[in-house]
Amino acid sequence: MTFSEALQTPLLAERMSRVKESPSSRVADRVRAFQAAGRPVIPLTIGEPDFDTPEHVKDAAIQAIHAGETKYTSADGTPALREAIKARLLRKTGQSYGAGEICVGGGAKQLIFLAFLATLDEGDEVIIPAPYWVSYPDMVTVHGGRPVVVATTASTGYKLTPSLLRESITDRTKWVVLNSPNNPTGAVYSEAELRGLADVLRANPRVSVLCDEIYDAINFRAQPVPSTVTAAPDLRERIFLVNGVSKTYAMTGWRIGYGAGSAALCTAITTLQSQSSSCPSSVSQAAAVAALDGDQEFVERAVRIYAERRDLLVSGLDAIEGLRPVIPQGGFYVWTDCSALAGTATPSGARIESDADLAEHILETSGVVVITGDSYGCPGHFRASFALSADTIREAVAGLAHSISLLRRG
Ligand code: PMP
Repeated sequence: MTFSEALQTPLLAERMSRVKESPSSRVADRVRAFQAAGRPVIPLTIGEPDFDTPEHVKDAAIQAIHAGETKYTSADGTPALREAIKARLLRKTGQSYGAGEICVGGGAKQLIFLAFLATLDEGDEVIIPAPYWVSYPDMVTVHGGRPVVVATTASTGYKLTPSLLRESITDRTKWVVLNSPNNPTGAVYSEAELRGLADVLRANPRVSVLCDEIYDAINFRAQPVPSTVTAAPDLRERIFLVNGVSKTYAMTGWRIGYGAGSAALCTAITTLQSQSSSCPSSVSQAAAVAALDGDQEFVERAVRIYAERRDLLVSGLDAIEGLRPVIPQGGFYVWTDCSALAGTATPSGARIESDADLAEHILETSGVVVITGDSYGCPGHFRASFALSADTIREAVAGLAHSISLLRRG
């Protein structure tokens, strides 16, 4: 049964009509249908590291199982995990978070969901700069909030500016979401840019900021990725930092994320956690401790490999007429402007009007799958992942070049 069919049944609550199926699962369905028909695909849609979880992390989980760490833990995580998170936050932000100012959940995603559940009343507004990670708007609407999508452009590196922020704030604004490094653009906010945004927040004391820092360790700059709380420590009570082990340590399936912020928010989230899942998986928590506290050589190696693949994908895309890739500063995606191809036609005469038309043409003619910009609130673009082998990236670039070479003007 599809989600829209399920919505027709009397069983589902009204709020379910405010949620959409995630664009990635729609694309996954399309890919499966293609594969079922025996047609090969090259999925540039991958949203997780293709590396395996480091051995010492797996070993820690196995040891935890043998040591009987297989019971419920406290809803805010084991003491060992809270300590490891505190230490990581201190290293990154220079801020010392107390035990009550940390919460732990089944992935960063769950913590963002719970943060909105805990704070949004009907009609409260959340400022979401576009392009945005696909889940933010739905997480806001399902809890009765109103996403205020603020378009950003290439001229500001697809980043929110102080003036855009100022213009978007109303009496109902509860949150602004900042995601750095950004999914899908790879943009990283500099400390100066964060300070500029913080000035606006100082003038608007009821607005909090949700900083999704899940990609902060996959960083291609010489400097570490700055955190909002480092740029504006005086706003710490209004900053909710969200992070996790999924992307940094190739642990997407282990489902451990964490948040740090005001004691009121963290307590509310932990209370919701205790009434929903009780606690995150005990075994995964033990693994996350090993990841955060253990040898970081894995991360350094992964970043070096990502950097090579990034260069390969960016230069490949850049050489294709009509595409303008943005060089990502972090994460593992290349955001590409393809708006110049609008108005072209395929050999069969079908017109390319949108990024969705282009993605379909590319899939049909070379089996390469990208996620269209409209999924991120920014049409005329697509996102291509480089969490794939160099050979696959080369094959994908050749496929894209072939598909686009088939397009004709007029
Ligand atoms: N935030 C962003 C921007 C993401 O891209 C993702 C994963 N796709 C998440 C949060 C969720 O991460 P986790 O696996 O920790 O739930």
